[in-house]
Amino acid sequence: MDGIETLATTAAVGSPDETQRLWVPHRMVYVSDHQQPDHTDCPFCEAPSKGDADALIVARGKTAFVLLNLFPYNSGHMLVCPYRHIASYEEATAEEIAEIGALTQHGMAAAREALHCDGFNLGMNQGEVAGAGIAAHLHQHIVPRWTSDANFFPIIAKTKAMPQLLGDVRDAVAAAWTHP
Ligand SMILES: [Zn+2]
Repeated sequence: MDGIETLATTAAVGSPDETQRLWVPHRMVYVSDHQQPDHTDCPFCEAPSKGDADALIVARGKTAFVLLNLFPYNSGHMLVCPYRHIASYEEATAEEIAEIGALTQHGMAAAREALHCDGFNLGMNQGEVAGAGIAAHLHQHIVPRWTSDANFFPIIAKTKAMPQLLGDVRDAVAAAWTHP
């Protein structure tokens, strides 16, 4: 059975926990065999060295940056990452914590402006056990939500046309970004 059909069937049956459905799907796409990357093969360390469009970077700060999740749970799914390859929020400096918070605010504002979303899920999964795909590099999720999205967004996330769509979404969110 194909993955899309499986997800659609799962989503239609019973009343699954929404948090679980939001954070669990596709988290292992980045990482196979539970091998966590070190800084030499970490996509979040590599991204800032590329162009914004190539790396799906929406905004760059001094200690942290924002990029679109390559495997989004919903349209406009952003990740706020420190440039430093640190795993835990406890390792972040006061400056990084402040900038991750500020970039989260700006990302929300840009998504509201560009995507007209109705709400957000924000959060960090700390450790593989908590659902982090790349547990080795701290990242905060910003997931836009729409009133009607709950039943079909796992299907959207599996759509193969996503790379094209991601470029368009990046352009729209970056254009709506208000720099501090
Ligand atoms: Zn890294």
